[in-house]
Amino acid sequence: MAQYTPMIQQYLKIKADQKDAFLFFRLGDFYEMFFEDALKASKELEITLTSRDGGGEERIPMCGVPYHSSENYIRQLVEKGYKVAVCEQVEDPKAAKGVVKREVVQLITPGTVMEGSMLDEKENNFLASLSHFTDGTYTVSYNDLTTGETSVALITGGFDAAMSELYSRPVKEVVVAHDFPEDHVSILRDRLGYTVSFEDRTNVDESFSHLIKDVQQDKLIEGFGRLLQYIQHTQKRSLDHLQPVKVIELKEYMTLDMYSKRNLELVETIRKKGKAGSLLSIVDETITAMGARMLKQWMERPLLSAPAIETRHNQVEGFLDQFFEREMLREQLQSVYDLERLAGRVAYGNVNARDLIQLRNSLQNMPGILSTLQEFDHHSIKELYRTIDPLDSLKSLLEESIADDAPITIKEGGMIRDGFNEQLDDYRYASKNGKQWIAELEKKERESTGIKSLKIGYNRVFGYYIEVTKANLRYLPEDRYERKQTLTNAERYITPELKEKETMILEAQEKSVELEYELFLEVRERVKAYVDKLQHLAEQISRIDCLQGFAEVADRNDYARPTYVSGRTVDIKEGRHPVVERVLKGETFVPNNIYMNDETDILLITGPNMSGKSTYMRQLALTAILGQMGSFVPATSASMPIFDQIFTRIGAADDLVSGQSTFMVEMLEANHALSHATENSMILLDEIGRGTSTYDGMALAQAIVEHIHEQIGAKTLFSTHYHELTTLEEQLERLQNVHVRAEEYDGHVVFLHQIKEGPADESYGIHVAKLADLPKELIARASDLLEQLESSTKEQASTQAEKDEQLSLFVEEEKPEPKGKKEVSSSIEHYVENLNLLEMTPMDAMNELYQLQKRI
Ligand code: ADP
Repeated sequence: MAQYTPMIQQYLKIKADQKDAFLFFRLGDFYEMFFEDALKASKELEITLTSRDGGGEERIPMCGVPYHSSENYIRQLVEKGYKVAVCEQVEDPKAAKGVVKREVVQLITPGTVMEGSMLDEKENNFLASLSHFTDGTYTVSYNDLTTGETSVALITGGFDAAMSELYSRPVKEVVVAHDFPEDHVSILRDRLGYTVSFEDRTNVDESFSHLIKDVQQDKLIEGFGRLLQYIQHTQKRSLDHLQPVKVIELKEYMTLDMYSKRNLELVETIRKKGKAGSLLSIVDETITAMGARMLKQWMERPLLSAPAIETRHNQVEGFLDQFFEREMLREQLQSVYDLERLAGRVAYGNVNARDLIQLRNSLQNMPGILSTLQEFDHHSIKELYRTIDPLDSLKSLLEESIADDAPITIKEGGMIRDGFNEQLDDYRYASKNGKQWIAELEKKERESTGIKSLKIGYNRVFGYYIEVTKANLRYLPEDRYERKQTLTNAERYITPELKEKETMILEAQEKSVELEYELFLEVRERVKAYVDKLQHLAEQISRIDCLQGFAEVADRNDYARPTYVSGRTVDIKEGRHPVVERVLKGETFVPNNIYMNDETDILLITGPNMSGKSTYMRQLALTAILGQMGSFVPATSASMPIFDQIFTRIGAADDLVSGQSTFMVEMLEANHALSHATENSMILLDEIGRGTSTYDGMALAQAIVEHIHEQIGAKTLFSTHYHELTTLEEQLERLQNVHVRAEEYDGHVVFLHQIKEGPADESYGIHVAKLADLPKELIARASDLLEQLESSTKEQASTQAEKDEQLSLFVEEEKPEPKGKKEVSSSIEHYVENLNLLEMTPMDAMNELYQLQKRI
């Protein structure tokens, strides 16, 4: 250490506390990075790596970014999941003795980003903390620094359930204690992609105690405390805007585990990881960014209470009924800015005048929105109307105080409107009209002295002066003027009045800027008093936006209002898959009914690949979710019970938890469903058991169906390849067979995507083979084999591969290898197996290889 220069020593000392962050070390107009940070940052940011003499033997690696464009670099690092500690010079370099004092003033992390340009406007930016307790419970706490929203939930279902909870929100960063189990940290970091940060302290300081007044349980307080400590540690500034902690009562919401959220592609698709093609993309007709964020939250937490669901449906109905008023409302919402984030920034203390203009403009739209709302006849919209306070007094304050063309900076003036403050108006008058005033004074002085050549000038040393030529001196009244400077043929004078004006003129600009700054801070403080009300207004506008959006979606896509029954009958008429029906190109979606009466728990779905089994299953889940989040649903009518949880095991999720085999994932998901489902839940199991050999898989599939039937009683859709399972209908009274099948039409196979009662026809594959003109002998042989199989015991059953083939004969997507090639390769396998390697010479081997190659 001693070998280094004092500045590098200072750097190392500060860096020691910021091990997991890039340290942006302020040096003049640059933020510099040294050592490891420099090596890594130069790669990540693609900036030049240089070096610097730091007193040690070797030069120190260094790279830097200009102060004024640092935001962009910080954003790049934070987006990649890194943290950045911003270290500033905290004393005036001129006044410093020795090395300028420096301190970390802010730690920017993925979960604590505040700057607009780093945020996705349609998405919350949550920081979460996770605490675990000896009794196996967890708490999850959330905070969105941009809006101040804070909430906590107690999780009793173990780590899995805690993950599912975390997964319900757009979380970027998770804070845990240092002793959080290693393997769980690695799941958070490596599998789920969160930035993981550590914080051991969990106390809530006195100054924040008002935030937890509604929180009773110690565990929740501890969980929140960890989050708060971390925020305090990273932000190092006022946290006045944090809203009181809301306790999330998980009992109020449908539980959607992590697997289901992914499998059902609610907010993003599995393959593309984007919003396009997700359920959210189809039902998001919100206009404002805050509405879009609320919609996403609604989707991740469908409701369980029938009255609450019905309130939303009533409101959607109200908006749906009146097209023109809705159009009007949608147009008005266009000019409402992100009130929620604005409120957050007001509270946080970093709004500029432009933000306040946005706020003003938004508030100016409120009367219009209110009067449009009044045009709706539905009582539920009238109720909504009554909850809105348009904040007129705040609007007036902003109208009077902030200038229309205010700049972004708050230290250069131009923010405050003329007429708001007399003193400011004077300053402005003085500075704007300074020259004119001088000209007037000159005229006045000429008149009073009668000296025509008298003039007023300005220089830096003496400021403004009155100049009189020596020839005219005698006309000058002695006492009024004070001589300042003598030139060869003129004298220069000042007067108290001139000096007074001079000060006024010269300082007017500077003073008005200063005064504006003060006035602006004052206005900002006054606006701050409205934060709670603004947040409430933001929430109501978001709600209206979501609900009008639902009406819009229902209108455009012909959705129907679902009704809820207290019994267990599911009766959906002409239901559709909301996403598939929109993306089908050229084809029309075939609607299907879903009917399960009180006594039916399980629908066992058979049918060939690509016929629409999994679409049908998902359709039910998505319909339930849409309904319970308050939306209408894609059907001509829908009546169903309220589902407490939805579980899925549906294909295409194999890449979900990397590193685990498909089959393992399948079993994990199945197990999750079996251990958590109740009779009020929905379970979707698609082709379960496919990932292992036939008997194994089929046995498991059957056992799972039986278990659900006997022990759980959840409404279950179960699709399967194992035709044998269709006989279960005879043993299990609450199980029913349905099938999707294709038809032969004009010598072609046509998938009609229609669900019919009863099991699929088992000889379907052979039927299709016939249509495809396979050799007659082959078809006959296949029919024979099928007969044998049907009458035989399990030992004679086909292998999984053959079985798959039977039902998916022509589905090239799933089986990219042409069938002919497969036959060749299996016969080659057979051939190779029978070679007697021990008896062979190398030449023999070469020959064999040659023969084999020819056969491929
Ligand atoms: P399976 O699960 O039986 O293999 P999918 O449900 O994946 O079949 O459906 C395969 C394709 O068939 C879907 O991608 C969709 O394009 C189409 N499809 C499914 N159901 C319907 C339907 N009801 N109407 C129109 N097309 C459908």
